[in-house]
Amino acid sequence: MAYYSQFSKESLDALRLELEQQLKRYESENHDLNMARGKPCSDQLDLSNALLDIKIPLEKNPNDDFRNYGTLDGIPQTKQLFAELLEVDPSEIIIGGNSSLNMMYSTLAKVMLFGTSEEETPWCHIKDLKFLCPVPGYDRHFAICQKFGMEMINIDMTDEGPDMDQVEALVANDPTIKGIWCVPKFSNPTGITYSDRVVERLAKMKTAATDFRIIWDNAYVVHELYNDTEPLMNIMEACKAAGTQDRPYLFTSMSKVTFAGASVAAMAASKNNIDFILGIMGVQTIGSDKINQYRHSAFLKDLQGVKNHMKKHAQIIKPKFDLVLKILDEKLTDRQIATWSVPRGGYFINLDVMDGCAKEVVEMAESVGLKLTPAGATYPYGKDPFDRNIRIAPTFPPMDELEKAIEILCVCIELVSIHKYIE
Ligand code: PLP
Repeated sequence: MAYYSQFSKESLDALRLELEQQLKRYESENHDLNMARGKPCSDQLDLSNALLDIKIPLEKNPNDDFRNYGTLDGIPQTKQLFAELLEVDPSEIIIGGNSSLNMMYSTLAKVMLFGTSEEETPWCHIKDLKFLCPVPGYDRHFAICQKFGMEMINIDMTDEGPDMDQVEALVANDPTIKGIWCVPKFSNPTGITYSDRVVERLAKMKTAATDFRIIWDNAYVVHELYNDTEPLMNIMEACKAAGTQDRPYLFTSMSKVTFAGASVAAMAASKNNIDFILGIMGVQTIGSDKINQYRHSAFLKDLQGVKNHMKKHAQIIKPKFDLVLKILDEKLTDRQIATWSVPRGGYFINLDVMDGCAKEVVEMAESVGLKLTPAGATYPYGKDPFDRNIRIAPTFPPMDELEKAIEILCVCIELVSIHKYIE
């Protein structure tokens, strides 16, 4: 807080008073602003409206009739599309329903009940089951672990992915550590993309658990904000090269490509894993929605088609990211009371305020009509040990609301920091 030390007590009091009055003005303006969740805005959703007009071919051949039951693992053209996206063979793909989160939950539920293969013990029989959670991370991942009673272990995120020294040291000796969550590209919320070195180490590391799994949630695989493509090493190939091909389960979806919650999700895994999972899935369902699969393939066509479509998303949301970053810079850079990410893709800006301040900032913002992701949500059990991390989701609000929201947020950050400094 070097910035505030240059103020006399009187001028700091005056500044605090001014900010408190500003906050009161915001309160009287009755705002109803929301930056809590990373949702696409309606202009983004409009980009895919043509999807709704795509007619389904009415084949007489029963095997190709998308209106009928069957095809557990998905139709070939959609498997091909996701294979291109995840850089795997189509035979390594299973198309799911509308949500990758649902597929992740469902896959872990299968492993809990039946194990990762016929040879392995179902995880529900393992005492003291543990999972590694790079932090800050995605709250819904942590909620799954919590529901299944897994103990979550925080792993620090570095600027090239999870701290692999920590990961390797933990997994080498403890067979009850069964897996790790990874959002490898434009990570939620840090925006970090894993380096080649991190991907290689994840593939090569020695694990005491023979059924260790990497949950590779590539939710933001094509979500670039800039024209260039952020490279990410192919985890499947890295694992094949290391002889650990059964280690990764890959997931993604079209939720933030077409319609959030009404798109198509997919997973990819080794042949062993796919066969084992399909064996259970065949009991769970007769198949997913092939009409929606067909529509997505016809609308997006191939990887290049997806990339072209994502450029239109970037045109809508990049100005929103730019606006947030500009205001943060103008209001906070010289104060030295916060740091933030400047992401090249994904859906979030990751903001760290001073230790011990995040909860108060979020509460203060809420008291004047600005809803943010709850402080702590980016950590397992909702507990940020430093109480400093705040996730900013800039895509959903219109530009004018976003501008007001960030102005309010900056006033709250400064006010809470000054209170802390005066204490
Ligand atoms: N994974 C991550 C990292 C996300 O950020 C999100 C949504 O915000 C999801 C998964 C949810 O994806 P889906 O809509 O496919 O369930």
